[in-house]
Amino acid sequence: MVCKDPEKKKAYDRARYEVHKEEIDARCRIYREEHAEELKLSHQRYYAEHKEELRAKRCIARDKNHEVILQRDREYRNKYYKENTEKEKKHQRDYRKLHPEDPVKRKKRSQTYRDEHKEEMNAKARARYAANPANADANSRVRRARKNLVEWERIDIRIVYDRDRGMCGICRKKVSWGQASVDHIIPHSKLGPWLYSNVQLAHLRCNKSRGNRGPAQMRLGGEFSK
Ligand SMILES: [Zn+2]
Repeated sequence: MVCKDPEKKKAYDRARYEVHKEEIDARCRIYREEHAEELKLSHQRYYAEHKEELRAKRCIARDKNHEVILQRDREYRNKYYKENTEKEKKHQRDYRKLHPEDPVKRKKRSQTYRDEHKEEMNAKARARYAANPANADANSRVRRARKNLVEWERIDIRIVYDRDRGMCGICRKKVSWGQASVDHIIPHSKLGPWLYSNVQLAHLRCNKSRGNRGPAQMRLGGEFSK
């Protein structure tokens, strides 16, 4: 007798499978082993024929778990970056070297960023200055020198102090560490370069009084008396 109701046949097959489970599984396994190549080809064929459909199914699954997947990716990326920070930084540097950004675009982008993060950046700069005033002064010197396209190098007041044997270049008297400052010989306003060859040690007060007449002055390091 042939069963005509497909539902009934399904239920019958299921029941039969439950009873002869092990025997059927073993037979399937043997069949799969014997026809491995054939099955592989058939799977490939099925995939090729139903490619779009299968892809759509995957997309649906991905959309359903969108947030979960995003979160997982983020965690993975963060973990990877933490473990390979140096490598990644080097990679980024190399990439920027190979693909330099259009300078006009770059300028515009950084301007936009500055406009959008003004308060935040100012607060950061203030904190930086408070943490290390001498360093911040030196940096602002360098920035100005760069902007005016004059030559510059990082000036360390300790080196200037030793080189000038602790003597003020303006009044020729001994300078205590607390009164030490770096004086620009050819002033910044006259585009004097920010180089060791164009600076001298000076009392802060000498520097300041000269400063009123034009030359640049600089306080670097040490404890300054007020
Ligand atoms: Zn002096």
